[in-house]
Amino acid sequence: MQAAAVKKSASAKKAAAVKKAASAKKAASVKKAASAKKAVSAKRAAPVKKAASAKKVPVKKVTVAPKKATARIKGAAPARTVVHPPSGESRTALVRRARRINRELAEVYPYAHPELDFTNPFQLVVATVLSAQTTDLRVNQTTPALFAKYPTPEDLAAANPEEVEEILRPCGFFRAKTKSVIGLSKALVADFGGEVPGRLEDLVKLPGVGRKTAFVVLGNAFGRPGITVDTHFQRLVRRWQWTAETDPDKIEAAVGALFPKSDWTDLSHHVIWHGRRICHARKPACGACPIAPLCPAYGEGETDPEKAMKLLKYEKGGFPGQRLNPPQAYLDAGGKPAPPLGAG
Ligand code: SF4
Repeated sequence: MQAAAVKKSASAKKAAAVKKAASAKKAASVKKAASAKKAVSAKRAAPVKKAASAKKVPVKKVTVAPKKATARIKGAAPARTVVHPPSGESRTALVRRARRINRELAEVYPYAHPELDFTNPFQLVVATVLSAQTTDLRVNQTTPALFAKYPTPEDLAAANPEEVEEILRPCGFFRAKTKSVIGLSKALVADFGGEVPGRLEDLVKLPGVGRKTAFVVLGNAFGRPGITVDTHFQRLVRRWQWTAETDPDKIEAAVGALFPKSDWTDLSHHVIWHGRRICHARKPACGACPIAPLCPAYGEGETDPEKAMKLLKYEKGGFPGQRLNPPQAYLDAGGKPAPPLGAG
């Protein structure tokens, strides 16, 4: 009996020692991870605001797997469960994840559409050129006056530039934009009989029209599939790790290869809509994001659901949309038209 008691006490002692050692080790790793995180945060401290938000990332997430967590901080995302972690993701898995994201977004934005108001290809090409460096809303508020005065390419080709500049002033870069839209109208009249051509190779020859504008026109005025790689599209596909490319043409090719051609135009709308409403450049609303479980960048933005809800824009935040004349499906879903220039 005595021998058994001695044995018991010895093993209890041993267990206590092991426990102590384990918790000491854990504490050390917490400290190490925390200071590693601090170092990374400090390195990234360039914009003061960013450093402040990095500081907010709870240390306990980092301690779960310090190595992985550090890698995440490098990618500006905290440790958090990701349903399909893309590290080492196979091509097939990537295609599946990308298509699933698009399907989910189609449910979130079933009314997604081009956010520029237009009634014909000429208005769309002009509006798209004007949308550089400004919002679609601002363009939509400006073009009614422009198209009322110059309804055809012939009218705009013959316009007095100073008068056009006055109308386009709210769009920013109004002198350069005036030059572009008058120039492209002249080219439409001279080379295409006053009609907007429906081929990529012709569209990109027009002054001020690049591939991005051409695909917007092809996809939305001619029903030809096209991927629109704008600033939102570039940011989101990088966050989702669909491609590591940075050149818009290469992004277009890489993402195009993940989807059937017939999906390209709607895919562009879904991605751009998500970028404008939820997955913002500076403060993505991760806590209110319906595709968070599929996103490797979850946590790059606000994860608190209540705070994230306050970051939502346009109809998702209960505000008016960008179009003064949105499609009926948008209105049916509770969307509101944008106010005209100078209203409110
Ligand atoms: S909002 Fe956050 S979770 Fe959603 S797609 Fe953007 S980065 Fe990912």
